[in-house]
Amino acid sequence: MGSTGMGALQDKVAVVTGAAGGIGKEIAHAFFLEGAKIAIADLKAEQAGATAKEFDPSGKRAMGVGMDVGDEQAVDNGMAKVLATFGRIDILVSNAGIQHIAPIDELEFSQWKKLMAVHLDGAFLTTRAALRAMYKHGEGGSIIYMGSVHSKEASPLKAPYVTAKHGLIGLAKVVAKEGAKHKVRANVICPGYVWTPLVQKQIPETAKARGISEESVIKDVMLRDTVDGEFTTTADVAAAAVFFASFKSNALTGQSLIVSHGWSME
Ligand code: NAD
Repeated sequence: MGSTGMGALQDKVAVVTGAAGGIGKEIAHAFFLEGAKIAIADLKAEQAGATAKEFDPSGKRAMGVGMDVGDEQAVDNGMAKVLATFGRIDILVSNAGIQHIAPIDELEFSQWKKLMAVHLDGAFLTTRAALRAMYKHGEGGSIIYMGSVHSKEASPLKAPYVTAKHGLIGLAKVVAKEGAKHKVRANVICPGYVWTPLVQKQIPETAKARGISEESVIKDVMLRDTVDGEFTTTADVAAAAVFFASFKSNALTGQSLIVSHGWSME
């Protein structure tokens, strides 16, 4: 906040998917502190509502929206609710995501499709709804995709995740080109390992699949290639999101930014 009390996102309306917990919640909170109105969209509807209350007990600047981002009707209904409540959408953070650990020869088609539905169908459906609102309103906007170091590099046992995260960069580039004349920017944040439930869950799974200890998964798989052996934090990722969301011109669009303690330097 500056001395005027105005935040960098004063009175902007932001939809953050997967924001009932983890990285999405931290981004939503950072936006809230910068003056934005926040829609917390999550599969966990009750938790989304509780998170909104936690930010703003008065309910004026934060709302929870139950939404499966892979479901067309659910996304369109949810985004319509946000528009009905806040009147506009300026920022979308397509963040909802899941992980599944398995080698390709053992990977079930249903798991592949589930990952694609959340990451790619979810990004497309929320983008389409947000763009329709932004184009209609005529004041531009910012779309941010939650990529990963796995948008740039691969790890074994994560085929659908790596595929989907690479795909988001393609989508962001198309949105950047199509959105430019409407002053809509699109960028991707690519975090390294962040200590959230998504990562905690994959530690025992990776240990089992690779036949190593859980301690070794953290030290040798997750953090070995960082410059300092540290996890990226949700606050680090939220700071990058505020930067993209508040950037004022089309100079910064179609880009991807790695925030990973040097895990990836591509
Ligand atoms: P998380 O599991 O803590 O939170 C994910 C949230 O998404 C949860 O609240 C969950 O309910 C919600 N969600 C899941 N499926 C959904 C659906 N179909 N519709 C709506 N909401 C849904 O995970 P996180 O670590 O905070 O991950 C957030 C994003 O960041 C993901 O896209 C993930 O791939 C990405 N990411 C995470 C890391 C990391 O190390 N944690 C690193 C790079 C990228």
